[in-house]
Formats: sequence, C-alpha cells, structure tokens
Amino acid sequence: MLRSLVGSEMCIRDSLGANAQCTSEHLLQFAIMGAMLCTAVEGKENPTVGLLNIGSEDIKGNESVKAAGGAIVPGDEAFRLYDTFGFPLEFTEELAKEKGYEVDVLGYNEAFLQHQKKSQLGAEHRFKGGLADNTEETAKLHTATHLLHASLRKVLKDDSVSQKGSNITAERLRFDFSFPRKLTKEELSEVAALVNSIIEENLPITCEEVSVDEAKESGAIGLFESKYGERVKVYSIGEFSKEICGGPHAASTGVLGSFKITKEEASSAGVRRIKAVLKIS
Ligand SMILES: [Zn+2]
Repeated sequence: MLRSLVGSEMCIRDSLGANAQCTSEHLLQFAIMGAMLCTAVEGKENPTVGLLNIGSEDIKGNESVKAAGGAIVPGDEAFRLYDTFGFPLEFTEELAKEKGYEVDVLGYNEAFLQHQKKSQLGAEHRFKGGLADNTEETAKLHTATHLLHASLRKVLKDDSVSQKGSNITAERLRFDFSFPRKLTKEELSEVAALVNSIIEENLPITCEEVSVDEAKESGAIGLFESKYGERVKVYSIGEFSKEICGGPHAASTGVLGSFKITKEEASSAGVRRIKAVLKIS
C-alpha cells in the first residue's frame, strides 16, 4: 500500500509539472496523502486507511459488488472518499487495482452529479433569503427586499452596499447589509420614498434564466456562488433592480402596498440592519 500511495503522489506531481500550477486543492491532496503515508509507516489505526482497505468484508458483502462478480468498488463509495477526504478518483482506482478490484466509474459520475444537484438546490434555498414560507405576504415582503436593496445602493451612492442577510416573517422584512455607519433620518426617508415611488409605478417583475457569466455581465447583483456553467434565475423589477434570486416574488410592484421602515440599527461591525413593513394603502 505504501508504494501505491507514493505512486499516486508521483502521478499528481507529474500532472502538476505538466500544468505548472499548484492549486490549494492539490496542496490539500498532498496533505492528506502525507498524513496517510505517516499512518501507514507508523501502522496506527486510522479510519481513513480503513476505508481504503478495499479488500474488506464490507465491500465483499455489498450486494452490488456481489452482483458484479465481487470485483467492483461501488461508485458511491468512491465518491464518498472524494467528497469526505478529497481523494481523487484516480487515487481510489489505483488502490483498488492493487487489490484486484475495479471502481464503478459510471456510478461515481452519477453520485457526483447527484451531489451537484443537491448543492444547487441548497443554493437556491439560500437565494430565497430566509423566507419563512411561500405565502403571498412573504412573497410581497421579499419583493420589497429587492426594492430596498436597490434603493439603498442608489441613495447611499455606494455599490459596496451588499446583502449580508435577510429574514422574512408574515409581518415584516429584515435586511442586513454592509455599510460603515448609521444611516441618517434623511437617508432613511429618502430610501423609503424611493421604494414607494417604484411601488406606485407598478413595474412588472420578470425572471430569466441565464448562465452565471451572463448574469454578471448584465450587472445583476446577488450571490455569485454557483459553479461555472450553472444557470441562475435573474429577477428584474423594471429597470430599477436586477438580482440573482430563487423567488418567490409578486407579479408587479403595485400590489405591495405602502412601504415603511420601522427600525435601523447595527447588526455587527460594518453591517447595518433595517426592519420594514408593508401596509395596505
Ligand atoms: Zn428575490
């Protein structure tokens, strides 16, 4: 096993040489392999090494392994090693080979895709910005949060104003954003007036699904945490606001009613918090 570990490390070294680039991921892999080498040398019990003991009864007893003639490491197991410990597939394959096993690469890819889907759903949930539920009231308050965010950036003339948190109940919205000082009364009334003027304009809220790059180019604000190639939803409120989000939203601003800021306070260092309500007008 020791030789195999060294061999895998050499493989990675070679590929690093070819790319002439050393990423943090590579460094992490080196670190893990280094730790494993030490463990292998010292002969200490280590759950990580145990997992890689591919000839174990666990895998022999696995139904899918049995069905495959007892020589296949399930893909989800290979993915778990990658996901939990950062072992590249090639590394697991090499260890498997040493024991006379093969890795179910198709199953690994399937597990990988499933995992990506799950992370994307998680991200969409975060885009909803702490919505309590999907009722009409919370959709309105959430839409008002977009207007508040855009208005703050315009009134404070500061593009560095960005969302740090959002929480919505049936009664009020709460919006945390980066800003270095308390807002003046004048600024707060200007922000509220701007939100209300957009509500009065009854602008439509439209949604388009685009790539992350297209969203960035269009000037949309929001969380750019999606992976390259993923598509995101961009919600536009007329020309006033453009934001990456997961919804749900009102169909147009006219239904929101009257917007009122009830509180402005510090949330943490460099972060302000605004609470606001919508009243039927
Ligand atoms: Zn939204």
